[in-house]
Amino acid sequence: VTETIAVPVPHHPPVADLADRLARARAAAAAADLDALLVSPSADLRYLTGYDAIPLERLTCLVVQAQGDPVIVVPGLEKPAALASPIGDLGLEVLSWGETDDPFHLVASLLPEHGRTAVDNHMWAEKVLRLRDALPGATQVLAGPVLSGLRMRKTADEVEALRRAGAAIDRVHAQVHQWLRAGRTEREVGRDIAEAIIAEGHVRVDFVIVGSGPNGASPHHELSDRVIQSGEPVVVDIGGTMPDGYCSDETRTYSVGAPPQEFLDYYAVLQAAQAAACDHVRPGVTCESVDAAARQIIADAEYGDYFVHRTGHGIGLESHEEPYIVAGNTETLEPGMAFSVEPGIYLQGRHGARIEDILVCGPVEGERLNLRPRELVVL
Ligand code: ZN
Ligand code: ZN
Repeated sequence: VTETIAVPVPHHPPVADLADRLARARAAAAAADLDALLVSPSADLRYLTGYDAIPLERLTCLVVQAQGDPVIVVPGLEKPAALASPIGDLGLEVLSWGETDDPFHLVASLLPEHGRTAVDNHMWAEKVLRLRDALPGATQVLAGPVLSGLRMRKTADEVEALRRAGAAIDRVHAQVHQWLRAGRTEREVGRDIAEAIIAEGHVRVDFVIVGSGPNGASPHHELSDRVIQSGEPVVVDIGGTMPDGYCSDETRTYSVGAPPQEFLDYYAVLQAAQAAACDHVRPGVTCESVDAAARQIIADAEYGDYFVHRTGHGIGLESHEEPYIVAGNTETLEPGMAFSVEPGIYLQGRHGARIEDILVCGPVEGERLNLRPRELVVL
């Protein structure tokens, strides 16, 4: 009998790293001619402070001023939770408000009357509008461009966190053959996969897609009560969040028994396209050229009309973030950028296939963080 030894995983980055992120956010705000970044509970807040707050109706808002120290405004009842997070160790000033206070005016009192303030991209519209009412002379813009510039350039520790997430989801795919068989429903298979996502080290299941037969032709089909038939391809796209907040996302396409020949024909094209896009990854190439590397091969084989989505998305504290691997994105890759390469071919009403790996751009080339075989797995 072998025992699995749990490797302790740090749930928060070191305080010095968080302080560095806050300092860089402040500098980036100043460089973007902003007076402050306003950040509500979100991946942005977790990235900057380590505080994994739940978005709620009461306002929690980090104020990163271009001049001056950052401050966080929190509801009084959330103050102990905020101080128990790395915010306590960071020495951030915590301003709490009582149930009958107006937190929007409290935030406004920290800001210039006619300045430029940036709100995080996921701030609830209700809060954005109430902040605007509390500071009618200010210009509101999105903080996304400033914050994604920081978040998409991962440190070595962040890349290591994504590597752990990639290995965890690889371990789940390695078990799929035990559960995927004719006569079971997608939902039954999905339930087994979801349990394994947690058992292999994630704290949250973000999505489980089991697309059998015609459902495989719908890229974001999740689960249904459809019974899987013999001879059907099945797209399995799964991901979760690790204790430190970093996400996994990996797709493999399986076949329950021998699939139709037309499927084998386009699967070979897809595999070549996915490999070409992965091989194209290196510093200095554009995001859109990675998309083109996959798309060209699929188009040359006359399946271009059946590849209906971009090639990939960035990944980190969110499973979809910058940089997007899509035509029109001329951002150039730098070491530390992490994203999916996931071309697909979908024949409506029949079947579909997708192969997805997470890659990180290294100093010379791309590194795949998912290592399961990419050949069609016939069960
Ligand atoms: Zn996926
Ligand atoms: Zn993905």
